[in-house]
Amino acid sequence: MTTIIECASCGRRSLRDAGPCPACGAAQVTAKSIADRGVLVSWTVIRRPPKNSAETGPYTVAVVRLGDGPTICGRIKNPEFQGPVGAALDLRAIESDVPVFEPAGSAR
Ligand SMILES: [Zn+2]
Repeated sequence: MTTIIECASCGRRSLRDAGPCPACGAAQVTAKSIADRGVLVSWTVIRRPPKNSAETGPYTVAVVRLGDGPTICGRIKNPEFQGPVGAALDLRAIESDVPVFEPAGSAR
């Protein structure tokens, strides 16, 4: 399970374990647990990162629907990932506010 916060003011859920809310700045947030396993909705490989980005390509960006509802955008750790849509993925880390996924059951 991963801890997120839900803002009492605007309702936004964020991949953080403590406030304030990154959307509206409200201090009152509620911590919740979400499932680490999700299903791949879509993905793409970024070969040329945007200018001024600290990233070097290629890297894989994915949209993942977690088991208990929220759909989030993150990265897939394996740069050679080839899908398919519907594949099970595990949330393994949050690096610089970016969720990082790996295929379910893969070694850490
Ligand atoms: Zn808020």
